[in-house]
Amino acid sequence: MSSTRLLSDVSLLDDTLDQIDVATVSLDVDPDVRCLLQSVDQVHKVSVPFRRDDGRVEVVTGYRVQHNDVLGPYKGGLRYSLDVDEDECSALAVLMTLKCSLLDLPFGGAKGGVAVDPDDLSDAEHERLTRRFAEELRKVIGPNTDIPAPDMGTSERTMAWFMDAYSTQAGEPRPGVVTGKPPAVGGSRGRAAAPGRSVAIATREACDYYDVGLEGATVAVQGFGAVGQHAARTLHEWGADVVAVSDVDGGCYDPTGLDVPGLCEDASSGRVNTAGHRTRMLTNDELLALDVDVLIPAAVGGVLTEANAPDVRASLVVEGANGPTTPAADRVLAANGVPVVPDVFANAGGVTVSYFEWLQDRSRRRWSLPEVHGELESKLLDAWAELVAASESHDVTLREAAHVVAVGRIADAIGYRGV
Ligand code: GLU
Repeated sequence: MSSTRLLSDVSLLDDTLDQIDVATVSLDVDPDVRCLLQSVDQVHKVSVPFRRDDGRVEVVTGYRVQHNDVLGPYKGGLRYSLDVDEDECSALAVLMTLKCSLLDLPFGGAKGGVAVDPDDLSDAEHERLTRRFAEELRKVIGPNTDIPAPDMGTSERTMAWFMDAYSTQAGEPRPGVVTGKPPAVGGSRGRAAAPGRSVAIATREACDYYDVGLEGATVAVQGFGAVGQHAARTLHEWGADVVAVSDVDGGCYDPTGLDVPGLCEDASSGRVNTAGHRTRMLTNDELLALDVDVLIPAAVGGVLTEANAPDVRASLVVEGANGPTTPAADRVLAANGVPVVPDVFANAGGVTVSYFEWLQDRSRRRWSLPEVHGELESKLLDAWAELVAASESHDVTLREAAHVVAVGRIADAIGYRGV
């Protein structure tokens, strides 16, 4: 079921690994460390049979890729999407290693998921699939070894079922096996909103750094799922004008600012319902090219490409999704003077509050929401200060700086621990 392999010949991975390479070169890192970071520790691929509501049994494929655990237990989300495969999980696992390191969390990186269309699952099917997936992974995950969390197509309910199935197998409650659970079963206050909240904090800090006033700044958000909605709502509360939001089917635009709380209320199941909002409809491509202060791609990966990056008119891009900007688009944006606040920092609130949840599960002490917000703020501000310092001292983009900080910390740990 598992293997150790070298990562090669895969474009999504190549892109991510190329970025690590640039950081290792800037840091003059030992070639052995470079070699370690270029390989994943384990790839677990499992068949997951589950019963459909009509009685048929269907078998889908599940994955858990564990990239590197030098800083601590593997950590990262589980995604349900037809795009899930070994390469995508591997690339996203590498990003998790970098994200945890950048935020100075005692975790390594992993990612997993099931190749299934989550919109094609009833609640009962989602539950049966999740329970079986937890059973298939039970030997390779655990509160001290690998701790999954929600990602695209999964939610806190998924995590509750996953934890219940794992605990039933273990014969005792093991809330710490996953994070992102509902607060009623050991989840942390503020976890569900945390990725979006960190996107808002990243936007606030970047606006300050680049002298764009947040009060009245115009913001376009692509993707109105958990990340997009919470980012939009928080930025709206902080005085920014969210002028455009969209989902897969397109979005709405009002240059004077949208009714964000109203849209969030309408957006059950992550769909933007523009009915009743006096706005202009627009396509996702149009949204990406809007003349706004801040563009937040918070949907899927790879939306900003070499082809559409020249059209970006935003003053800065803040990445809510994982991997929304291709390396070629990154180069175009850098050449055009558009700073990109990278995913590994901007949406890292999710895994950071996951860490707080894991601590709460271990200590059996629940934190208040102000405590969660205060600790999140302080973790993000520390990482932002390191990021900006690395960007200035190495004269590199924020993404390259994030990788320099993250790889530097991992290299130090490998140096002390040895191979
Ligand atoms: N799926 C989220 C991410 O990509 C959260 C991971 C976690 O909390 O472990 O960062």
